[in-house]
Amino acid sequence: FDDTESNRLDAVRRDFVANISHELKTPIGGISILAEAISEGSDDPVLVKNFSERMKIEADRLKNLVQEIIDLSRIQGQNAMENAVILKLKSVIEDAIYQSKVRAEKKNISINFVAEDDLDFFGDKKQLVMAISNLVENAINYSPENTAVNVLLRKSDDFAEITVKDQGVGIAESDIDRIFERFYRVDSARSRDTGGTGLGLSIVKHVISNHGGDVQVWSVPGTGSTFTVLLPITQIKES
Ligand code: ADP
Repeated sequence: FDDTESNRLDAVRRDFVANISHELKTPIGGISILAEAISEGSDDPVLVKNFSERMKIEADRLKNLVQEIIDLSRIQGQNAMENAVILKLKSVIEDAIYQSKVRAEKKNISINFVAEDDLDFFGDKKQLVMAISNLVENAINYSPENTAVNVLLRKSDDFAEITVKDQGVGIAESDIDRIFERFYRVDSARSRDTGGTGLGLSIVKHVISNHGGDVQVWSVPGTGSTFTVLLPITQIKES
């Protein structure tokens, strides 16, 4: 009886639980300290307002984290593709961009979308929208104000190719291999500022692999990053 694989899975699971516990402790600890401070300074309305606003930020962070853990376990589940239908990739991308509209406007970042081809694809719309919107959201989060994010959909050989290109901080070569790991962040302070959980790209990777595809990164620190999603065209009929 070879139990190598089951031992490996056990280790991955233990590691994940340890990581989740650690990640949950930070916002919970924050809320607890803030609650204490509010109760001690309850006669100072400015302090109460300030600390309760910070409490809301920590609570939102906790909410995001729990939601992403649920999303991740759902897309890794056995029935992850049970809701797959034939859908239009152009509208998937439009929905994903729409979700990031407010965030982009706040930083005066323009999102330009060009669909050279609209393509039919057999997939799970919710998952694909989530994956593309994670990429667009990262492009916004890791870019300075007044820049542009360019999104392109086209047919490339046997693939539907979706690229999300930003003019942001970029990613060092030594980090590129690790950014798809759960909870990995290049700069955790910066990620925390933007409400990042470190799970966004691992969700992207799982969704794309559920659809038989691949995701690639090209990046130059200080210049920007391009994330390219390739979805196999065998499942695609041109519309
Ligand atoms: P997070 O929630 O921290 O954004 P992700 O899994 O989405 O987590 O991304 C992992 C890390 O990869 C980020 O913390 C960030 O350091 C880096 N990263 C992701 N997308 C970009 C991007 N477009 N530009 C620069 N860095 C990025």
